[in-house]
Amino acid sequence: MIQRPRGTRDLLPPDSRLWQGVEDAAREVFSAFGAEEIRTPVFEATELFVRSVGDTTDIVHKEMYTFPDRKGRSLTLRPENTAGVARAWIENRLHDRSHPLRLYYIGPMFRYERMQAGRYRQFAQIGLEILGADTPLADAEVLLALAEFLARLGFDDLVIHLNNLGDPEDRERYTAVIRETLSPQRSSLCADCQRRLDENPLRVLDCKVPRCQELAAAVPAIDDVASAASRDHVNAVEEQLRRLGVAHVRAPRLVRGLDYYLRTVFEVVSPRLGANTVLCGGGRYDRLISDLGGPVVPGVGFAIGEDRLVEVLPEAFRSRALASPRLYLVPLGTAAAARSLELARDWVRAGVPVELEVSGRSLKAALRRADKDGLAFVAILGDDELQAGVVSLRDLARGEQERVAVAGVPAWWQGRQA
Ligand code: ATP
Ligand code: MG
Repeated sequence: MIQRPRGTRDLLPPDSRLWQGVEDAAREVFSAFGAEEIRTPVFEATELFVRSVGDTTDIVHKEMYTFPDRKGRSLTLRPENTAGVARAWIENRLHDRSHPLRLYYIGPMFRYERMQAGRYRQFAQIGLEILGADTPLADAEVLLALAEFLARLGFDDLVIHLNNLGDPEDRERYTAVIRETLSPQRSSLCADCQRRLDENPLRVLDCKVPRCQELAAAVPAIDDVASAASRDHVNAVEEQLRRLGVAHVRAPRLVRGLDYYLRTVFEVVSPRLGANTVLCGGGRYDRLISDLGGPVVPGVGFAIGEDRLVEVLPEAFRSRALASPRLYLVPLGTAAAARSLELARDWVRAGVPVELEVSGRSLKAALRRADKDGLAFVAILGDDELQAGVVSLRDLARGEQERVAVAGVPAWWQGRQA
């Protein structure tokens, strides 16, 4: 038997309702903040990620699905989507539109990772970006939209971890500080971090090995060596969050796993996931588009891991999303069956979700099935009803049955849903 590739999943009903509920909420909240959807390809030129995410990051170093196409061009399944959005900005000359642009995306990402809980090789991200604004207000707006989205899902225990990553000019100085602090302990670091110390010392702070984290705790906060401008920027973002009452803490060693961030960086962790399992990450990336050869366009945004988000969805949202009431229309006999599709059409047009009994079940079998599948409302159409232009509507939960004119069914349904 052919099986799905390791690290991928089949999303089946009814779980797919949870994903739809989450995505509907994201679309609603983000568009209420003026964002519009962008859809970019799931594969891009490999060079895009090497140049944006950074060739010494874990993602580029060991997690990318890279392959030559039939003409030998190197392509990569996107491991994240900010790079694709930046590429699309340049390619489609979005700079010529009025700024800023607020863009959101929802879709699959691909990383060749070791299998563990909450870590897949195909996973989905929901992201929001504001491009063309460099103010702390833009960062705060992105964080507000994030907080509002999470609140819409019913989360009340999530905290934003926030840090100042400084400006790229500060990076060299900070890199020297990290090397100075950690070089004496070099042999105690994991093999990856020994390499990181040479290639990209900032990445040591992002290591998940406990011993490395202990040692990294001795490294001074970036904020201490960062430019005054970057400090003012992040302080202003924090001030806005305070005003809004958005839960947040400073995380002085938070760096994120991508090279393009500067100034504001943040993460959301859930107490219901492991300590190293982050729900959402983001930050400011003012040089990304220009580094890719485009104009200077500042940006700020985040990506939420949808798989992990669904795993920790609050119960109330979960049960609301899983509930999918439908009116189970059961025609009895050939004449009723012939009429049933017209009724289904009219009711669906009037906003009633209908599940038509198409397998010819008897009334008894249909009621058994309704019970088993939680179809609490049944519309029975027998010869009798057909003659009279009515259906017998059963509310299984209340144990009631009444005859209602077919045209009155939508009103009856709406009354039951209130
Ligand atoms: P992690 O530290 O867990 O490896 P990351 O820093 O690599 O995460 P980002 O690149 O910031 O993650 O991606 C944003 C979000 O996407 C993460 O917070 C997480 O929720 C989700 N995510 C990343 N990689 C995976 C994966 N392999 N499987 C499921 N979700 C993922
Ligand atoms: Mg990762």
